[in-house]
Amino acid sequence: MSPDGIYGDETVAIVKDFQRKQGLGVDGIVGKNTMAALDTRFEWLSHRVRLHFISISLATVPFEESFSKAQKVYGQYGIDIQFGSGRSLLLTPAETAMFERIDQQCNWELTSGEYDKLHRLGPTVPAFEIKVYFVDKMRGVLGCGGHAPGRPAATVAKEAWRWDMGHEVGHVLLTKTFTPVHHPHQDNLMNAFPANNEVVKLLTDAQVRKIRTHPCCKRQYPVSPAY
Ligand SMILES: [Zn+2]
Repeated sequence: MSPDGIYGDETVAIVKDFQRKQGLGVDGIVGKNTMAALDTRFEWLSHRVRLHFISISLATVPFEESFSKAQKVYGQYGIDIQFGSGRSLLLTPAETAMFERIDQQCNWELTSGEYDKLHRLGPTVPAFEIKVYFVDKMRGVLGCGGHAPGRPAATVAKEAWRWDMGHEVGHVLLTKTFTPVHHPHQDNLMNAFPANNEVVKLLTDAQVRKIRTHPCCKRQYPVSPAY
């Protein structure tokens, strides 16, 4: 159905159908028992990836939409994308000039040059948490998942597709050892040219399995529901 946020007749009918199949009282209302039955059907957020956002862009960056889209994609697979911290950097004029456009080619390992300099800016974050840099412009690309070993970071241009932050974080988590690097299907988050549409992007089972092995994707344990 097309989501409209309204708990209308269609929603009531579906809830009743679900209650009937679960052997619950059929009233179309999502109460305590129905909620518990729903909870058991969905995997809890068994893993988490914590991101730290650093903006060097002078303009407003599409942070909130990029973040919520990443949460939607990974959340489908029980991976909680968490907000670690966020800040804008106050750059010196020389740094501003250097980072106005990232000209360096994106590679898996970026141990020197503009990316390396950029990724050394901003806060020190806990080990196995990922820094995400929003920049104004990048030459030839809209994002890059490359970084120095042991310093996980992704870089995203402010005009990138709103799915792209999740895509670049996907590169960080999948690492260069996962193939194919880019998935051929447009609905997959790791497609090279993801359309900027409202359909929530997907990951394959193989991608999810690989992502869960990355040290930045940590297992977390459920908080008991407050019934
Ligand atoms: Zn890519």
